[in-house]
Amino acid sequence: MKTKLGLLYGGKSAEHNVSLQTAKAVTAAINLNTFDVYPIYISIDGTWTEGAKLEAPAASVEALQLSGNGGTEHVLSMLAQNKYDVVFPLLHGPNGEDGTVQGLLEVLNVPYVGNGVLASSAGMDKIMMKNVFAQAGLEQVGYTHLIRPRWEQDKERACSRIEEEIGWPCFVKPANLGSSVGISKCQNREELAAAMDEAFQFDRKVIIEEGVTAREIEVGILGNDLPECSVIGEIVPKKDFYDYKAKYEDGDTALIIPADLTEEQKVNMKELAIRAYQSLDCSGLVRADFFLTEDGRFLINEVNTMPGFTPFSMFPLLWKEAGVDYPQLIEKMIELGIERHQEKQ
Ligand code: ADP
Ligand code: MG
Ligand code: MG
Repeated sequence: MKTKLGLLYGGKSAEHNVSLQTAKAVTAAINLNTFDVYPIYISIDGTWTEGAKLEAPAASVEALQLSGNGGTEHVLSMLAQNKYDVVFPLLHGPNGEDGTVQGLLEVLNVPYVGNGVLASSAGMDKIMMKNVFAQAGLEQVGYTHLIRPRWEQDKERACSRIEEEIGWPCFVKPANLGSSVGISKCQNREELAAAMDEAFQFDRKVIIEEGVTAREIEVGILGNDLPECSVIGEIVPKKDFYDYKAKYEDGDTALIIPADLTEEQKVNMKELAIRAYQSLDCSGLVRADFFLTEDGRFLINEVNTMPGFTPFSMFPLLWKEAGVDYPQLIEKMIELGIERHQEKQ
């Protein structure tokens, strides 16, 4: 018996296109002799569409942008009737990586790949995530946050407070996004004001962090209650920081795998990564991202509960180096999702 897999991709977020690219790669890598794969596309405006069972890898990203086939109600009833043995939410950002879709699947009792509701939602909100990390005793950069009405009320006052509490340079980010969308680095008040206006275009909450000069070191984690770390890698952005363009368009950011670290540093970082994983009650997978400061401290930056997942993304490359290739990684993640569902029963 083949496993019936619902491959959920696209999504109502700024990372829609990233998800499409990933879905194409997954259809090319997944073993169609083991899995019956049903593509389920979520358009940018949030309409769900189910495609016919895949007979071959998706020919193009356009081919994956399905239309017709009954729409959202049809797909929801297919999910409720347990048509799929497991669903793979290949979704990044809000309305997908943030626990909402995970909650829907929980309610419908459908097994799914990756993190559950709590880890997904806490991991999506950079403020909540940092609060949890602080509670777990993990070292990180200084941060503060602001909600939109407070910003609109008195921008001068907000800038003064940020200048005093955080200083320069600072990073301004929408609280709930990924892929560097809406993120700016600011050196002065003028840049800060523009960056805040920009970030509030994407979210009603914005986080402001101390900017650090540091190496960017990342590790993949796989597992449920007994997670394991991959090889450790390093990102060397050619630009000032690892922005959206550097991640997905220029492709000239160097990924160094394995990262040049001492044995002691590796052991230390893996221990911190597992602590971060467990503090958010993660399951399935995450990529844990750290800053390694010039004075040798590992500061946790974030965990990504559905990290970039094309075959050229950091997470799959780290596992490849650890001996798990892309098709095996996909299978492993699916197994972990099914296992987690069974353990809950
Ligand atoms: P995303 O979830 O969008 O990936 P990140 O918090 O990882 O957001 O920020 C994107 C990139 O911006 C990081 O990879 C790093 O290059 C840079 N960056 C973010 N925060 C800081 C910071 N506090 N200090 C220095 N660089 C930062
Ligand atoms: Mg992120
Ligand atoms: Mg990041």
